[in-house]
Formats: sequence, C-alpha cells, structure tokens
Amino acid sequence: MKALNLERYPLRLLLPEEKVRRRGKGRGGDRAHLVERAEREGPRRVRRPRANRAPPGRPQKEKSTIDEWAELEWQKRWLLKARKRKATTWKTPWTQSPLKLYSDTPKHQASALFLLRTEVLGLNGWLASINVPGIDPNCGCGWPTQTVHHVLMFCPLHTARRAELVSRAGPEEMERMLSTPERAQATARWFVQQGILQQFNLAKEIEEEEAEDQTPFQPLEAEQDFL
Ligand SMILES: [Zn+2]
Repeated sequence: MKALNLERYPLRLLLPEEKVRRRGKGRGGDRAHLVERAEREGPRRVRRPRANRAPPGRPQKEKSTIDEWAELEWQKRWLLKARKRKATTWKTPWTQSPLKLYSDTPKHQASALFLLRTEVLGLNGWLASINVPGIDPNCGCGWPTQTVHHVLMFCPLHTARRAELVSRAGPEEMERMLSTPERAQATARWFVQQGILQQFNLAKEIEEEEAEDQTPFQPLEAEQDFL
C-alpha cells in the first residue's frame, strides 16, 4: 500500500467524519456558551486598587479633602481648648509630633511622661481637683497646690535632687523640659525617682535593683547571644 503524503492532505480528511464534527462542535459550542454568558451578565467588574488607599507599608502621599478638613477642624478645636490650659501638652506646638518623645523610653517612664505632660496624675493638686475624698491640694512644703510645675521648678522638698535634673535636662522652662525627647525622658525618670507618685514606686525599686546588678562587661553572655 502506498503511504499517504501527510503534507498534501489536511488532517480533517484523514479522520472519520463523525470525530471531526464532534470535535469542532465541542470547541465552537464552548465558545458560543461563553459569548452568550458574557452578553447575559454584562461586562465583568475588574478589580482595581482603590485610588485613596496607599499600598501597605508606604505612607499616603496625598490627603483627601475630607482628611484636610478633619485636620483643620481638629487643630481649631485643640487651639481653642488650649487657651486656658497650663499642662505642657497644650503648650506644645501643633506641628510637633509628641510620639518622638515616647520612643525608646521604658514603659514606666513613658507613662510618667504622659502624665506629666497632661498633668493627669496623682499629685495633690490634681487629685483634689477631681474631688478625691480626703485629699488636700497642698504640697508637703506648704505651697497651696502640688502641681507638676511646682514640683519640677520650685518645691523646696526636692531642692537637693533638682541639681541632678538640671544637669541632665538643662535649666529650662517646664514646657521645654517636657517637649524635647532627651529632656523629656530625663525629666520623667527624675520624677519617677522622686517617689512622689505611688503608682511608680515599684518601677523605681526595680530600676534601682537593676542598677545595682549591672556590671560593666559580660563577654560570655554577650557571645552566647550570637550563637
Ligand atoms: Zn512643694
């Protein structure tokens, strides 16, 4: 039998007719079905990232109008409230981010700093202002109100250790002592060490114990950390 020259004859002619028909119908049938469904359902919604959502890990570049409005409104209300307030947090310029003050600060000092800046803390002046029973606003030295400003700047009961604070935080106004990172941290630490605030006494004891235990070099332990 003479071999067929496959190059000269299309494949269709070499296959049984039924198979060719079914195969063609199969393919065409699927396509027809897709076209029909597309017409029935309309164009599919293509997912696109939302215009106002920044990719993760990147800061948002442009603020929306509503963001700008909200910030202005917040600033307006803040400045209005700040007029009659004495706490440092109200005196800090609007543009300064207070978050920097708290970074790299141990938790108890960060808490103390927050309380000092807002003057919401267990000093007699504040406790009496919120009507805590049995609290006299006087300071132990006889000054009529025990406030952050009085303790940091003037109280004669803390004169001895105030020199330490001045050497670390500088002879500054209270607002500046609580508004720049190094000074604010030194001031918070000093306040904790004074032991005026009951809630920080445990933190103060732990700090003192750690200071006693500290030795200048521990090479073996340091090496083990890297293994
Ligand atoms: Zn005093």
